[in-house]
Amino acid sequence: MVRAQISMVMVLDKCIGCHTCSITCKHVWTNREGQEYAWWNNVETRPGVGYPHRWEDQEKYGGGWVADNGKLKLRMEVMKKRDPPKMEDYYIPFDYDYDKLFDENVQQEQPSANPVNMITGERMDVKWGPNWDDDLAGGDIYARMDPNWKVLEKEITLNFKDVFMFYLPRICNHCLNPACLYACPRKSIYKREEDGVVLIDQNRCRGYRLCVTACPYKKVYYNWKTGKSEKCILCYPRLETGQATVCTVSCVGKVRYMGVVLYDETRIEEVANVPDDKLVEFQRSLILDPFDPQVIREAREAGIPDNYIKAAQKSPVYYMFKKWELALPLHPEYRTLPMVFYVPPLNPVITALDRRGKYMAEYKNILPTIDELRVPIRYLASLFSAGNEEEVRKSLKKLLAIREYFRLIEVEGLSKMEASKVLADQGLSIEDAELMYKWLALGRERWTIPTAQKVKVGRMSHMKKKGRRR
Ligand code: SF4
Ligand code: SF4
Repeated sequence: MVRAQISMVMVLDKCIGCHTCSITCKHVWTNREGQEYAWWNNVETRPGVGYPHRWEDQEKYGGGWVADNGKLKLRMEVMKKRDPPKMEDYYIPFDYDYDKLFDENVQQEQPSANPVNMITGERMDVKWGPNWDDDLAGGDIYARMDPNWKVLEKEITLNFKDVFMFYLPRICNHCLNPACLYACPRKSIYKREEDGVVLIDQNRCRGYRLCVTACPYKKVYYNWKTGKSEKCILCYPRLETGQATVCTVSCVGKVRYMGVVLYDETRIEEVANVPDDKLVEFQRSLILDPFDPQVIREAREAGIPDNYIKAAQKSPVYYMFKKWELALPLHPEYRTLPMVFYVPPLNPVITALDRRGKYMAEYKNILPTIDELRVPIRYLASLFSAGNEEEVRKSLKKLLAIREYFRLIEVEGLSKMEASKVLADQGLSIEDAELMYKWLALGRERWTIPTAQKVKVGRMSHMKKKGRRR
């Protein structure tokens, strides 16, 4: 059965860690009592601790699925774990007593605004916050607290020359196999049939918080005021009118790309069950070619409207995840089949200069090879491909090929045809290169969102027992 999903790609080389996405999201959706600590969108410095504290440590939090002899089980059930993270694992939300700055009587010293606990209203000492380790990736303390650091510990020391850093923006992944949905005893969580957005029915939710434990990305937040759980809604009221999410539109670095992908719903369970090193390859195989006449026919039979099919044909997500194999899912080993993807960072791409400003003699090429890049591939593989380094290499080689192609034309004066050999080596065409340049470098037409249609596409078959019909 063909289904449609609206999903996102983030190109990490372009993220400058400005947090504009988090702030716009907070102002639109969680700027209210009970959600002070909730960052439906957050941006982490990597390597680093993350938010909540070490969220990737599933031995502590029990999120996601485990494959057990061909059967998927919620890790929280295997571990017999029910407890969601504590407030301290996030942070105690605080604001400052700004009135004091204006109301204080004249005195010798400049008045200062004290931090105030936003829940109790009492003064407090701030000891931790959601971006406490912002830009501190090289720091001995925070880098070592990153659960992914364990794959590097032997080969990387925290010497200045080895330090690397990049930003990782995160939202709910609107997964195809959402652990949050299956963990909910009230069947309050559902995946929208028409676009795959995962939502919590606030009328049914009773705040048991099993979804908070089950989500391995820790992207469900309990609202202490209403007693219900809440999460990113992928700005669905905007999607319905053909607009991208506020985090996408406001993104300073033009990092985010959105579009529709068509996928084969009947294979979800099979794909979520494959060995770790096959997870990316099999998740890619779920995504269908929107130009294939048979896929188009089956999509129409399944009730998917033509504007969705047209959007899927222009979708940057389809090209970057499926066709070009540039983008990768975050922690596919959690087996929720996340539908937000990341193009891994390639920094830095330029080699060292000598004292006279000339490229240093020991570097033969201006563009480095994959193994000369600063971010260790093993670290990226721990984040984006369940340890499969080949998937990361494939992506980075293509990113390098596109740079090399344009350099050969612009700097060396080669014709497009002459330069295209570097593309062909990576299975890319000149048309691919031009489209990549338009999207990745110029950041034009970064999303194609179809407006909502009043159609019924039918309930997701693998969710018939779980998850409630909308
Ligand atoms: S990221 Fe977490 S909250 Fe979002 S759909 Fe997946 S399991 Fe559910
Ligand atoms: S707004 Fe864009 S560039 Fe800024 S932190 Fe968010 S994703 Fe990165």
